[in-house]
Amino acid sequence: MDDYFERLKKGSLKLYALEKELPPEEAVRVRREYMEMTTGAKLGSVGSFTMDISRAVKRNIENMIGCVQVPLGVAGPLKVNGEYADGSYYLPLATTEGALVASVNRGCSAITQAGGADVRILRDGMTRAPVFAARDVLHAQEIVTWVRGHPDEMREAAESTTSHGRLLDVVAYVAGTSVYLRIEFDTKDAMGMNMITIASEKVAGVIERETGARLVALSGNMCTDKKPAAINFINGRGKTVLAGVRLSDSVIRTIFKTDAESLIEVNYRKNLLGSARAGSLGFNAHAANIIAATYIACGQDPAHVVEGSGCITTAEKVEGGVYMAATLPSVQVGTVGGGTGLDTQHECLSMLGVDGGGEPAGAHAKKFAEIVAAGVLAGELSLLGALAARHLAQAHRDLGRG
Ligand code: NAP
Repeated sequence: MDDYFERLKKGSLKLYALEKELPPEEAVRVRREYMEMTTGAKLGSVGSFTMDISRAVKRNIENMIGCVQVPLGVAGPLKVNGEYADGSYYLPLATTEGALVASVNRGCSAITQAGGADVRILRDGMTRAPVFAARDVLHAQEIVTWVRGHPDEMREAAESTTSHGRLLDVVAYVAGTSVYLRIEFDTKDAMGMNMITIASEKVAGVIERETGARLVALSGNMCTDKKPAAINFINGRGKTVLAGVRLSDSVIRTIFKTDAESLIEVNYRKNLLGSARAGSLGFNAHAANIIAATYIACGQDPAHVVEGSGCITTAEKVEGGVYMAATLPSVQVGTVGGGTGLDTQHECLSMLGVDGGGEPAGAHAKKFAEIVAAGVLAGELSLLGALAARHLAQAHRDLGRG
């Protein structure tokens, strides 16, 4: 051990190179103990975990020293009437925000009592947008014309890199001599960012060869990955999902202690008008809370909360109650790849019956997206209900304070 510490200190051994000399468990332990020595922090809890490290250090993390734990709760049963998710589910939520699980749970009760949330996926396509430099505007137009006229060449190149991914579309955007090609793929059960980045590189090579365009960057930010962007909000990225439920006056009264008019007014003045006045991209109460907690529990990329939280919540008066809906343009989820294979995350996916690849391919990711959307609707209902009944501060006093 002292020898490793000495070499790490001198810099003759790099922290990231420990796995080259030691089995994964040992490398992680030496690195953690070196961190304890260097920082003076005690990392006993960070070093206490059950995860299979050999998988994680190969696919998910570099310079690993251990794991952080996030409490995991469940909300449900939540009845979902989707095309892929059709049944009652317990939603795994990993969070440190007291009152969140209780709130979503209340929304689940309302939805389930109302007969379930109807959920539909309107479109499904993950995007990568490389940026190319043209010589001048005439060349920019030539590139766009070539792209529009040669879908088969681009598809053949893209699909030579993956047995699951399918190229759906390539849409060109131009700014002066910069040409952005937003390439869209069906990634089946994978969230797909690695898959389509590899496929897009192959497509970019064909475009360079055929048009003389110069690839500047494989991602030109019109994808748009992990940044708030109107293009995702308008056109969608990943799965565009709609969840809606009709709540009767009696469900609103017994579960939320309020009435339809109050729910509708809070939604209008807060989610719609307040968000518009603030220039927000999210016209909702707290979609990010449910997206973040399910993504962390189920091994999704947590940075995709940025796009996932771009949700519009609507509430309309109907005979005998209210119709509430959550529209989520960019639900980017997968049930294979990324963090989905890690032990605890895999177990959470299996609670929903969506661990691994679906039959047919893509069915599990779609089912998962439908459940997530219904969970967001449950969260929206509950928070709007608490605000309408003026119960929000009390709930946080009771559940969220130490
Ligand atoms: P991945 O772990 O890189 O790959 C998933 C692979 O699983 C697919 O490429 C596919 O192989 C295979 N597969 C097996 N069964 C499948 C099924 N039923 N449906 C679809 N694919 C199936 O995962 P990814 O989803 O492409 O990428 C997710 C990772 O990308 C996350 O860790 C995320 O954090 C990271 N990420 C990367 C970027 C980037 O720019 N590269 C950006 C954001 C996030 P075949 O392709 O051979 O069929």
